[in-house]
Formats: sequence, C-alpha cells, structure tokens
Amino acid sequence: MKSNLFRLLSAVLFAAALFVVTSSANAATVHVVATLTDLADLARNVGGDHVDVFSLATGIEDTHGVPMKPSFVPRMNRADLVLLVGFDCEHAFLPALLEASKNPRIQLGKPGYVDCSQGILPMDVPKSTDHSEGDVHPYGNPHYMLDPVLAKTTVKNIYAAFVATAPQYEADFTRNRDAYLAKLDAKIAEWQRLAVVLKGVKFVSYHEHWPYFAARFGLNYVGTIELKPGIDPTPRHIEELIAEIKADHVPIVVREPQFPEKVPALIAKDTGATLVKLPIMPGGVPNTGTYIEMMDFIVHAMIAAVSK
Ligand SMILES: [Zn+2]
Repeated sequence: MKSNLFRLLSAVLFAAALFVVTSSANAATVHVVATLTDLADLARNVGGDHVDVFSLATGIEDTHGVPMKPSFVPRMNRADLVLLVGFDCEHAFLPALLEASKNPRIQLGKPGYVDCSQGILPMDVPKSTDHSEGDVHPYGNPHYMLDPVLAKTTVKNIYAAFVATAPQYEADFTRNRDAYLAKLDAKIAEWQRLAVVLKGVKFVSYHEHWPYFAARFGLNYVGTIELKPGIDPTPRHIEELIAEIKADHVPIVVREPQFPEKVPALIAKDTGATLVKLPIMPGGVPNTGTYIEMMDFIVHAMIAAVSK
C-alpha cells in the first residue's frame, strides 16, 4: 500500500518535473515571422522544435503585396526574428508592419532583421533604384528562391541568425541544417537530371519571377506579360509579345496563381502555346506545402508542358 502511494507520488513529481522542463523549453522558443512561405519552410527545417514560425503569406499572394491583416501585429510584436527576401521585395508591406510593431528587436539594422539575400548577387539590376516608375525590382530581381542552389544560401543565412539568437541550440540547428542541405542537394541533382529536356526551351511568364530558375536549368526566358515588374501590360505590349511568341515558336506561357488567368490564357490560345500554372512559393497551388514539393511541382510541370 505504502509502496503504491510512493509510486503514485513519484509519478506525480516526475510529471511535474517534466512540465517544468517543457515550460522552460517553451520559454526559450525562438519566435520567427517570415514574410513568405518559402522562408518559413526553410526556417522550420533548420529550427525544428526550438522555433515557432509564422508566415505572413499563405502562398497565393503577390510576393510584392501581401495583404496586411490585424493578426500580423501581435506576431510582429512577439517576434525575435523577422525573415525577409530582401532586394526590396517586401517594400509595399514590411516597412509599415515593422513600424506598427514597435518591436525594437526586429527593426532594420537590428540582429532580429534577417535579410535572407545576404551573399546573393541580384540579376537584372536596373539603372534606377527608386519605386517612382512603379518598378517593384529596384535593386534587381528578388526571386532568387526559385533557384534551389541559391536557396542553400538562404538556409545558411537563417541558420546563422538562429545560432546568434539561441546559441544554446547550436548543435541541434547544425544537425537540422546539415540534414536539410543533404536532402536539398539530392533533390537538386535529381532536378538537374530531369531538366535536361528543358535546355534551351523558351517561355514567357506574367511577372518576372523566373530568371534565376531559367539560368539554373538552362531555359530561355523570352519575356513577361507585364510591361515591367509590377507594371500592367499595355495592349501594344501584348500584341508585340504575341508576335514574338509566334515568330520564335515559344511553347510555354507561365501563369503564376496570384495574377488573373485571363490575359495569359488569351495569349496561349492565340499563339498555340501551352499555359502552365506554376507556384512561386509553397502553397501557391495544391500539394506544394514545402519548398521541395514546390520545386518538384515546377520542374515536373515544365517537363510535362514540353513533352506535349
Ligand atoms: Zn517580382
């Protein structure tokens, strides 16, 4: 009887001790806000149980204009780190959110402000670096995450920020990072093998999302339906693009889910090109919840389009 009571007491004390351990671990959780779902997925992979990651985007938004929600503010207030694409990609929504948050840890210039483009050389840098003409790529093209080799640089940037913020978890972060990079490297080798059939394939898209993807896999990125990044097409521009697609026998028109289907569909119909809907971040289309699933989807959808 006595020993039963002892066992019960021991069990209760053990549970209480576990609760204390779990609570203190929770207290040390690193709170992370990522602007886009690709950064959020990489952060979850590197951070594991030590991080709580919230993504402002769900995957279907325009990367340059994630609509602001009231729920963002408490998340921003609590954040230890904010992860951003950089090259002014989030110009239209992040500065205002940072200001509203009044969280000193994550303001520009502070260690909690993590620009994931560090170490990445931007493509297509324009002569003018202001937004006055509506160009949303003033510091060069920010869509480097569509090159999975460059995504490895992002993984390393996120890892460095996590270690600086929570050095007590360095061993876990290192193990997670190495495991994820190994997985990504294996997928990159697979994608490069598969993408041999994409070499030299011409395509156009709605927004200028694809120069890094095209460079990595050897495609020929002919142009965009938008006049310039963020600037709607004019009828004249569409006419010229259609003429070019016909003259060059461009077989693919890419449509990103955050832009209306009407114009890309009309262009594809008029030229006989195949319309391909491609996500530009995880969650953009069904079954692309992770970065690797999204890249898988993109590579396979492009191969399917050229195999028609
Ligand atoms: Zn863009």
